Amino acid sequence: MSTDTVMPYDEALERFEPVLGLETHVELGTASKMFCGCQAEFGAPPNTNVCPVCLALPGGLPTANVKAIESTIRIGLALNCSIAEWCRFARKNYFYPDMPKNYQISQYDEPLCFDGYLDVEVNGKTVRIEIERVHLEEDTGKSTHVGGATGRIQGADYSIVDYNRAGIPLVEIVTKPIPGTDRLAPEVARAYVTELREVLRTLNVSDVRMEEGSMRSDVNVSLMPRGSSEWGTRTETKNVNSLRSVERAVHSEIERQAAILADGGRIIQETRHFHENTGTTTSGRSKEEAQDYRYFPEPDLVPIAPDVAWVAELKAAMPELPRLRRKRLQQEWGVSDLDMEAMHNNDAIGLVEATVAAGAPPADARKWWMGELSRRANEAGIPLSELLITPDQIARVCAMVAGGALNDKLARQVLEGVLNGEGSPDEVVAARGLQIVNDEGELLAIIDQVLAGNADAAEKVRSGKIAAVGALVGGVMKASRGKADAGRARELLLEKLGVSE
Ligand SMILES: [Zn+2]
Repeated sequence: MSTDTVMPYDEALERFEPVLGLETHVELGTASKMFCGCQAEFGAPPNTNVCPVCLALPGGLPTANVKAIESTIRIGLALNCSIAEWCRFARKNYFYPDMPKNYQISQYDEPLCFDGYLDVEVNGKTVRIEIERVHLEEDTGKSTHVGGATGRIQGADYSIVDYNRAGIPLVEIVTKPIPGTDRLAPEVARAYVTELREVLRTLNVSDVRMEEGSMRSDVNVSLMPRGSSEWGTRTETKNVNSLRSVERAVHSEIERQAAILADGGRIIQETRHFHENTGTTTSGRSKEEAQDYRYFPEPDLVPIAPDVAWVAELKAAMPELPRLRRKRLQQEWGVSDLDMEAMHNNDAIGLVEATVAAGAPPADARKWWMGELSRRANEAGIPLSELLITPDQIARVCAMVAGGALNDKLARQVLEGVLNGEGSPDEVVAARGLQIVNDEGELLAIIDQVLAGNADAAEKVRSGKIAAVGALVGGVMKASRGKADAGRARELLLEKLGVSE
């Protein structure tokens, strides 16, 4: 799709230093909209959750949703922000068909929360991301462009608009510029959005579904030549809707901008669109400056002046935040920083925790989620949490391995069966006949058969080359179709051959 020339990433990083910025929009999970009583749920039939206020019919007057203000303050507190003692909403004026008022109620120079930070871990190192502001606004409606090849307005036959989303409370979380990430810029961007999503999930303020758009990040990237201290012009890639895409968008913008700058060109300040299929961005529109929006204080709403005692109460009732929770779990599970980070990046911590809660040893729970199950999720191109298997089921498989009913190889087949929808672990074991051969007589019969067919290896073992028993154990496992207990088979083989270790 994109025909931009690019500079290979390594070369781009040798010559330029990236500066990041991230603006994340989060739809709050309140029952009603920001300034009216309409329901705020996702997926209702188009234009059914609307009223004179959110449709901006004459005479409609907004009133602020206190639950949304509370959620925003809690987000600010979790991000170590100061909370304004007094602030106002502002009108942001612009025309767009999915915004019935022709302005958006937002906040401008008086955000509800400001000057915070969020620490994230990348490659075992802590990176502090400074937060400039957290403010509250309302979402727009949703346009759908019909008839074109790309789903964009260019080339479409007609457009339809759904105002259900118009007026849903939206929190915008804006970082300060993030210099110094160097070649880890893509990973830092991803780690930040991952951590932020975790914080929001812990606060239970949003369902943070990136694919449904309830959380979406705009990714700002600029480059400055090595040795320069003057920041370059940034581009803003809009509405990136997965963690992986955040990482790829930064990567591709670095490569694209570096090629332009190296060629003596200049970067245009603009919004860009990210394309999942190519992993690249294309030009959107030139970026407005703040003055283009003609902000002014919203005259229909009173200022927000959160009571200091109320804010203190909200702070005291904060849940354990993800980073502290990870530190605690890391200690309980006894794993390294890097292992913990790998679990975090795979969104596996909650799954491992639930599996441990269901009775599995932490090491086993981690092994299955980060090994076999991660591999299968990768193959299917889905997150771990979408695999059709539960922490309880993994714990059951772990118990069967610990009790000697399964070995790892059989356990993998049980997992496969569960993932294929063949039922619970016990049902898969029964249906596929996966029990380990515990019947000593049956095992000895297989051993005799294997010894008869492998006289050379048997002789080697007898003459003291104990390592050769491996081939015989392999033969037993093969003859039993993986159902023998390899450890017990080895013992019996050595016994039979009259060799002791
Ligand atoms: Zn309404």
